[in-house]
Order: sequence, then structure tokens, then C-alpha cells
Amino acid sequence: MKKAVVIGSGISGLSISRMLSDRYEVQILEKSDKAGGLIKCDRIDGNLFHKVGGHVFNSKDQTVLNWFWQHFDRDQEFLKATRNAKILLNEKLIGYPLENYLYQLPENETRAIVEELVQMLVNEKDKDVNYDNFRDFLIGNFGENLYRLYFGPYNSKIWNTDISKVPLEWLDGKLPMPQIKEVIMSNIIKKEESTMVHASFYYPKRDGSQFIVNRLSEGQNINLSFQVTDISVDAEGRLSINNGSNLADLLIYCGDVRQLSKIMRIDDRELKDALESVADLPSNGTSNVLCETDENNISWLYLPEEKFKAHRIIYTGNFSDTNNEGTNRKTCVVEFSGKQDKETMLQELKSLPGNLKPLAFNYEPNSYIIQHKGTRSKISNLKSQLAKYNVYLLGRFAEWEYYNMDKAIESAMELNVKLT
Ligand SMILES: Cc1cc2nc3c(=O)[nH]c(=O)nc-3n(C[C@H](O)[C@H](O)[C@H](O)COP(=O)(O)OP(=O)(O)OC[C@H]3O[C@@H](n4cnc5c(N)ncnc54)[C@H](O)[C@@H]3O)c2cc1C
Repeated sequence: MKKAVVIGSGISGLSISRMLSDRYEVQILEKSDKAGGLIKCDRIDGNLFHKVGGHVFNSKDQTVLNWFWQHFDRDQEFLKATRNAKILLNEKLIGYPLENYLYQLPENETRAIVEELVQMLVNEKDKDVNYDNFRDFLIGNFGENLYRLYFGPYNSKIWNTDISKVPLEWLDGKLPMPQIKEVIMSNIIKKEESTMVHASFYYPKRDGSQFIVNRLSEGQNINLSFQVTDISVDAEGRLSINNGSNLADLLIYCGDVRQLSKIMRIDDRELKDALESVADLPSNGTSNVLCETDENNISWLYLPEEKFKAHRIIYTGNFSDTNNEGTNRKTCVVEFSGKQDKETMLQELKSLPGNLKPLAFNYEPNSYIIQHKGTRSKISNLKSQLAKYNVYLLGRFAEWEYYNMDKAIESAMELNVKLT
């Protein structure tokens, strides 16, 4: 069998390794001392800590679902839950997505928003719907009032970037694109949102996304605490990793694409230029705090207001009771954009609802990729340069795509077909 090396044991690396293993001898190299990448979890005195966010699973793609459920017993090993997200505005909980729950806002806000939406509807015939960037898209679809109240501050906070520089293609298919008529109707008939990707989701009965990591790792050859720092081509034309400590016929890179210019040691001008063109792509990190909280029935609580540095609370303790084994209360993860110092976070926890008690902290520098115009074509050019050497990019930070787990699996499936 030919040898494939997969760099990174996140959901992308674990998925492609399984898919390749009928044709290749596969070795996974992982720099961390634990597999899982962004989806790994720790137990803190019995409580489950999703160190980055709180990972739930679903997909709209039947082939992805089929592949995933080959590895798990859906009914025995997973719980199915309906999303119950809320937005905290002026100390009041409003339904999510906000545009369907305008009737829950103070009357003056509702009036201004509805008047604007109706006006937009009247003018719709003349409207150019090819928005150039994310900000214009949000204002064009939801109006200035909703943008000011929620979409502007929330998105600027979570992405920590000027969203007028973000091209719309980036989020295509990942955002609901409601029509104004639908928004107005939803508010009259009070229809619950059911078309969002995670309107309902699956969650492991035990150990959250760590359960997914553990199952997909079974039987795989994973070399932990192995940081790939050097990739070259040897005299026989094989890929050589870290000066020959591993040789491969095929290499799948699931790490951060920006690091590749320092790692690839192949003397090829076009490849070098392509690597350098992506070396400075912008991204955003998150700081997460595992907390005890008072009970509620919410899954996600969004915090758009600028007075909060945190942008959401994920009530992971509501996803499965087994997540709260170290407390007689519930647990949740409070997510802050970027790197925050502990004191700031501790201070803020006091102003958030639920009498939060911090249990553990984590900072993840790579959580949100930010695409600008031209990013996709740079990545696509790099992919074709790397393919000359049997090196392929896969995953959120390798392909620089805003993937959820299901999209990472879908991309692994597409790559697997390409390599067959
Ligand atoms: C806050 C947040 C919440 C999210 N919630 C959800 C959710 O609810 N549902 C969902 O489906 N998705 C969710 N996602 C998205 C999901 O986390 C990602 O799609 C997925 O984890 C990406 O996996 P990956 O394998 O592509 O990358 P990663 O998980 O980043 O894996 C890359 C791996 O490569 C390793 N590596 C990097 N460089 C090297 C090197 N040089 N040598 C060796 N190893 C290396 C890293 O250590 C890491 O383990 C969320 C993401 C965030 C940030």
C-alpha cells in the first residue's frame, strides 16, 4: 500500500484518514498531545468543557449524514434536540432569529423596524440585490434599524473585523436569506424558525464532541505531540516530513495554511509565491470560560450589546445531563471574541445572567477565519501548486473556509473522490 500522511487530527484529519484507509497506509501527525483540534473537550472535576464553543452536529447533506452515522449508533449514542436560541437585549430575552420576533421588542423599536421594512418592500422593485459585502447585505435585507440594534454590533463583535470588507460569497449558504414578506408574516403568525442548519441537532449522550473524536480515532495510527515543521521532496520523489522521519506518497494538510510558507521546503518559485500570498490572512480567536449557571432551557444566548465583551453563552449543560457531573447546577460556556485577560472576563461574568461561577478558562487563537475578496482565488491557486507534489489542503484553516464539522466532512468526501 502507498503511504498517506495526514497533518492534524481535527474532524477533517480524522475523517479523511478513515476515507483513505482502504487504499493507503495512513499516518496522522498531530502537534497537540490530544486528538480533536477545535472539537476536543476536557473534563473539569466531572464537568464537560468544550474548550472552543460547544459543538453540536447536523448536516443538510444526506451523503454526509450517511457517512457520519456509519460510525455511530444515532439512537443509542446521540440525543436529538431542538435549538432554543435567545438574544439578550436591554435585559430582556428575545427570540432568535431576531427578525421573526420583532413583536417582542419595545413598541417604538418594532414600529421603526416595521415601517422601514415596509418601505423597503415598496422600493424592492428598483433594488440592486447583488450586494458587495456583508454589511451592505445585512442593511439591504434587514434595514438600518435592525442593523443598528443587532446585526451590526453582533457580527462586528464575533468577527472582530470591519464587516464592510467581508465579501458576501464567504457566507453564502451559511446564512438564512429571508424575504421581507416572510419576516413580516413570521411576526404575524408567530412562526418558529425551522430552516436554520442547526434548528435541530444531534449531540452525543456522553462526552460531547470528544466522543466523536474518540470514536473516529479508533484503529487509526495517530502520532501525538508531533509538530510538522518541515516538508520536502527526497531524491526518490517521495514527500519527506521533518527531515525524513516520515515518508509519504500523499500528504493532506489540515493545519493553518498561513504556516505552510515556513514549513514547505520545496524549491519552486510559483509554489513559494502562492504560499506567501496566504501567509497573512486574518483570523480571530476566542476566549472561553466554563461556568456553573442557574437552570434555564436555552441552548444559545446571543449577546449583541457593546456593553458585553462576550458574544454568546452556550448552555452545553442543557445538551446532555452527563455534562454536569461535577455540580448540582448546570454548566455553560461563555465565549469572548479574541484574547481577553482573566480579570476582564471574571468582571464580566458578574454582569451576565445566571449567577455564573467560573470553573475553567481556554484561549484558542484560531477559531474564526476571515475572508476578503481574493482569498478564495489565492487558496485555489495554492491548491493547484501543491497538487503537483501530491499535497492537498483540507479543513477550516487549511482551506480558509467557514466550515462547520459537517462541511469539513463534506470537503473530505470531495477530496477522497478526487484522489480515487
Ligand atoms: C466557537 C466555535 C463553535 C463551533 N461550533 C460548531 C458546532 O456547533 N457544530 C459544528 O459542526 N461546527 C462548529 N464549529 C466549527 C468546527 O469547530 C470546525 O469546522 C472544525 O472543528 C474544523 O476542524 P478541522 O479539522 O478542519 O480543523 P482543526 O480542528 O483546527 O484541526 C487542525 C489540527 O491540526 C493540528 N495541526 C496544525 N498544524 C500542525 C502541524 N504543523 N503539525 C501537526 N499538527 C498540526 C492542530 O493541532 C489541530 O489539531 C465551531 C467553531 C468555533 C470556532
